[in-house]
Amino acid sequence: MDDAGTEIPGGSILVEDGTIAWVGAGEPPGADGAERIDGRGTVALPGLVNTHHHLYQTLTRVRAQGEGLFGWLTELYPVWAGVDAEWERAAAGVALAELALSGCTTTTDHHYVFPRGAKGLLEAEIEAARTIGLRFHPCRGSMDLGTTAGGLPPDQIVEDPDDVLARTEEAVARFHDAGPGAMLRIAVGPCSPFSVTERLMRDSAELARRLGVRLHTHIAETLDEETYCRERFGRSPLELLDDLGFLGEDVWLAHCVHLAEKDVRRIAETGTGVACCPTSNLRLGSGIAPVRALIDEGAAVGLGVDGSASNDAGNMIAEVRQAMLVAGAAGDPTALSARDALRVATRGSATCLGRDDVGSLEWGKRADVAVFSVEGLAFAGAESDPVAAVVHCGPQRVRHLLVEGAPVVRDGQLVNVDEEALAAEGRRVAKRILAGARA
Ligand SMILES: [Zn+2]
Repeated sequence: MDDAGTEIPGGSILVEDGTIAWVGAGEPPGADGAERIDGRGTVALPGLVNTHHHLYQTLTRVRAQGEGLFGWLTELYPVWAGVDAEWERAAAGVALAELALSGCTTTTDHHYVFPRGAKGLLEAEIEAARTIGLRFHPCRGSMDLGTTAGGLPPDQIVEDPDDVLARTEEAVARFHDAGPGAMLRIAVGPCSPFSVTERLMRDSAELARRLGVRLHTHIAETLDEETYCRERFGRSPLELLDDLGFLGEDVWLAHCVHLAEKDVRRIAETGTGVACCPTSNLRLGSGIAPVRALIDEGAAVGLGVDGSASNDAGNMIAEVRQAMLVAGAAGDPTALSARDALRVATRGSATCLGRDDVGSLEWGKRADVAVFSVEGLAFAGAESDPVAAVVHCGPQRVRHLLVEGAPVVRDGQLVNVDEEALAAEGRRVAKRILAGARA
């Protein structure tokens, strides 16, 4: 995934102090005495980068089946109103472990539900990412436009905009690491035009720029949203964002399904990133994002699994395959090749998150490496192209995963946490949530 798309049969990677010290064919120079990972029968890729998620939703999977976005949200908001630190911790443990096992080394989270009195939500997910070993870019999200003011979310889960801005600034001061190789960065993430006031959208953009952090939101996800924006603001969702000062090289936007040709051009010319979430868009019947048009126009396009209430998996390599297949479904099988889809999920996603130190296996980059076996049943018969096979032949668990040179998955098992314990805790807390919702 370097600029030339170099592929090295029989290659080796030398890792030193968390960075890639050498990559090439055969034996690395100066590797005597180094710890070795046997890569025979595998494909080593840059760690996949997930650009959109809602970790807390992991404990409310398979709800609101057969609903579009607005119906799905309306059914789930009252459930999500119960989110607390225990829920967030359990959900993040499950979701981040799933991501790691699917080859993901860096992920964002977009957390925008902060019920009154709930404490320690951001802290819980940051701790989970640190424990599992993933590079983490959580957004301090927000909603301040409740039902009585014409928004979609119930009033009980919207915040005061001044509180939002103060809490966001605190989170950046406390957690954000702007340095090279950072393991933790904070972004600012007002939720959407139908759950956030224009004032908070504008102030969020100003705050992000003053603090030098990135800016994220949902936009142009469904036709319902398009109708809402035209009725309420007299503009399309993207025109609204543009007027709010919300486009630029420091911004990445989730979905971007319903874009006019001029919107595609505007996104590209402003250097705004796009986080495509194909599975979620299929689950909610939202549509298909114009990925090929965005790439051809020069936009930075990345990939996201979206929250696990609308996916309902957090599997990055499965999402790469989905992106490839969905792009072709519009009628052009060349729209997104397996290699194109991998590039979106690595270099493209890294650009969305403002990272030029991950996303490719090159000298000097951080040592974030996903090693996939291509020798199991799923790959027998795919020897003509092992790189494409990782995408085409269906999602398989990563064999080894390094983040900052440290093992996070070894031989298909999480190194730093107990997978069964995470699953059991997820089930336990999900049952508690289910009981509460029915009470
Ligand atoms: Zn989302």
